[in-house]
Amino acid sequence: MRKGPGKITGEALRHVFAKPATISYPAGELVIDKNYRGRINFDASKCIGCKLCVRDCPANAITIDNLGTKEEKKMQLTLNYAHCIFCCQCVDSCNKDAISFEPNIELAGTSRKDMIVKL
Ligand code: SF4
Ligand code: SF4
Repeated sequence: MRKGPGKITGEALRHVFAKPATISYPAGELVIDKNYRGRINFDASKCIGCKLCVRDCPANAITIDNLGTKEEKKMQLTLNYAHCIFCCQCVDSCNKDAISFEPNIELAGTSRKDMIVKL
């Protein structure tokens, strides 16, 4: 059904004064759902080096290394955000709660090297 000019003008005016559907970012505040799967965090003190996270990652985005000794482990997680698909399978696979995620999407970098982070 065709709309008359009066109806179209009314609709246009309604949208002029309506709250925008978009968010002014980065100028405005970015509100993200608390369950949004963003930045990955790693608690080395909880990691036992079982590498279940490495095995289960569908994107081959994780490496786990022990920088310490067999007796005194110092675990490091290397994550390639350029490969990560934010599925959070690593979080589910870790029995020690050593991996978690937070609703942070500010992960951009200017090179592929920037995407590889050591946690
Ligand atoms: S699954 Fe958890 S405990 Fe095992 S290596 Fe990964 S982070 Fe460490
Ligand atoms: S979120 Fe998914 S893709 Fe990213 S490191 Fe964890 S398991 Fe791999």
